[in-house]
Formats: sequence, C-alpha cells, structure tokens
Amino acid sequence: MTKRVTTEALADWLRERDDVALFGHISPDGDAVGSTLGLWHALKAMGKRAVVCLPGGVPGLYAHLPGAEAAVDTDAPLPFVPQTAFAVDVSDLPRLGEAGIRAFEACPFQAVLDHHGTNEGFGQLMLLDEKAAAAGELAVALIGAMGITLTREMAECLFVAISTDCGHFSYINTRPQTFEAAARCAAAGIDIEEITSRLYRTRSFARTKLLGLVLAGLRVSEDGRMAWARLTEDMLRQAGALPEDNEGIVNYLLEIEGVRFAVLANERGGQTKLSLRSKPPLDVAANVAVPLGGGGHACAAGVTLDADVDEAIRRALVLAEVALRGDSVPPENPPA
Ligand code: 5GP
Ligand code: MN
Repeated sequence: MTKRVTTEALADWLRERDDVALFGHISPDGDAVGSTLGLWHALKAMGKRAVVCLPGGVPGLYAHLPGAEAAVDTDAPLPFVPQTAFAVDVSDLPRLGEAGIRAFEACPFQAVLDHHGTNEGFGQLMLLDEKAAAAGELAVALIGAMGITLTREMAECLFVAISTDCGHFSYINTRPQTFEAAARCAAAGIDIEEITSRLYRTRSFARTKLLGLVLAGLRVSEDGRMAWARLTEDMLRQAGALPEDNEGIVNYLLEIEGVRFAVLANERGGQTKLSLRSKPPLDVAANVAVPLGGGGHACAAGVTLDADVDEAIRRALVLAEVALRGDSVPPENPPA
C-alpha cells in the first residue's frame, strides 16, 4: 500500500535518507528532466549521494541543463547501489521502463512525487497533487520544506520543468502556485531570456525538417474537430532527426482553428506511441488514454500500443469521437 503524504512529511522522510536514485519516465520531457535534476542539486546540497536515472539518458534538448552531464541512462550501471528510490513525474510503475522498475523495486526505501491524476500510487510514500502544473512546481515547494536555499542551478532546472509542462504559463493547469514557484526560480537569478529562447524560439534544422514532413501528412475530420498525423521512422531518417524531436509537434495540430482533439502517432519499432491533446472540457486522459491502457493529464496524455500507426490512430479517433459527441460534459453536470 502506498501512503499519501504532505510536502512536509516527504521533506522529513528525505532528510533521513541517503544514496538516492532519482527516476524519470520513459521519453523524458522537460518536467521529468528538470525536476529530477533540480532535486538532485538539492540533495547534493544536503551532502547526500544521489544520481539521476532517465530512460535513454538526458535528451539532447535538455543536455545543457546544469547537472545533466552526471545523469545516467537507467539501462546503464548505476555509480553506486541506491538505498532510496525517488520517482518524479512518473504516473505509474511501467513508465519507469524495465530497468527502472527493477532498480526502483530493489531499493528498501521508495517515494514518488507526481502530478498525474491517473496515478493510482506505487512505492511506499507518494506526494501527489494532480492540480500542480508540473512535478517541478511540487519540487520547488519540497526543496523549501527541506530548508534548502534555491540556487541558480536548481532554479534553472526547475524553471524548465515548470515552464514546459504548463505551455509557458498558458495551459489550463497554470495556477497561482505555478507562478509562485516560477517566481522563486526567477529570484534565484536565472536568465529567463536565454532559457526560453532555447526552449521556444530555437529549433534544430532536423526538428524543423521533421515538423514539415509530419505536417505535410496532417488530416482533419469532416467536422473539423479532430486532427491527426503520423510520425514514421522513415520521416526521422529523412529529417536526420531523433524520436525526441517530436516534442511540441502535436501542438500544431491542436492549434488548428476548430480542433478539439489532436493525436500524433509516433512509430517506434513495431509499436506506436500516441501523443494525445485536447481543448477543455474534453478530458483526453479519461476518455482516450486510460481506455487504451495509458494515462496522463486531462488535456495532455499518451499511450503506447502494439499496433501500427494507422490502427493506433483509428483506435484513438473512435474514442475521441464518442467523447466529443457527448462533448465531455462531466457526469455531475448533466445537460438540463
Ligand atoms: P507526451 O505526449 O508529451 O509524451 O505525453 C503527454 C502526457 O501524458 C505526459 O504527462 C506523459 O507523462 C503522459 N503519458 C504519455 N505516455 C503515457 C503512457 O504511456 N502512460 C501514462 N500513464 N502516461 C503517459
Ligand atoms: Mn509533468
């Protein structure tokens, strides 16, 4: 049984621990990378031995973050035998990847810090706040509760975590505490122009080329409410891009006028990873991701299916179509 705890309780628990392995999820995004690295700096500042483990290592997009060079691929041998497993931004055990699950379960002490509403709990302790915009938002509060001063290095990682998960303070998950956490990062002296320019106003040639190839095959339903596109391994080869270069592409589909639901189907070695996005009130996690075996947030979710890209898209569209027909009216507010 997983015990749900407060920020203060998790801070007290961590203060007593050492030899910490921080785990992020497969296909690590800005929040997974930034939150684990930010907490890594904080644990080091407390004099603890710690390591960040990310499936596949740190994606190139985030390789410049301070501390990224010390992070390891979850599949690689760890620099020490961890006693404490700390999963951050990870919504369920399988999201750790096979090596991550083994390493997490081998630790006598296990905790989770997360903000996914679909998280049913794993490990011994869990701090879950599904209203938080990012795990990074919770990490800033946790570092404060541990009595650690936020350094510029921690702040840079955590600002990236927060900003990327809330669409730079524009998605529905953005709340006062999101700005408060970001303000604490800003007060630590980070260069916001430089960080956001790299995140939002710079794109490698390969990523740009990939964007063009994906958008060239974009489709929209007859009623204009659903948009979908494929990202095949052949497109990656043509563009000279990496799978992680898909980040942000699905937003172009959702930004089409009138579109309420968008799906980008990423071909991954015989499987298909779906990136699902919606405009409120359509809950894409509850209506599409969870029925298919995945999870995520109300307006940004995902799942990996044992199907080719076209079959995977078809399965997502069938579910989204049904949800859109009901227009996702919450059951407690039935139409009059
Ligand atoms: P993305 O499309 O950017 O990979 O993921 C969007 C959101 O859905 C993220 O919060 C991510 O953690 C979550 N997500 C993506 N794929 C999966 C999955 O296979 N299972 C679960 N539980 N969550 C997922
Ligand atoms: Mn997140």
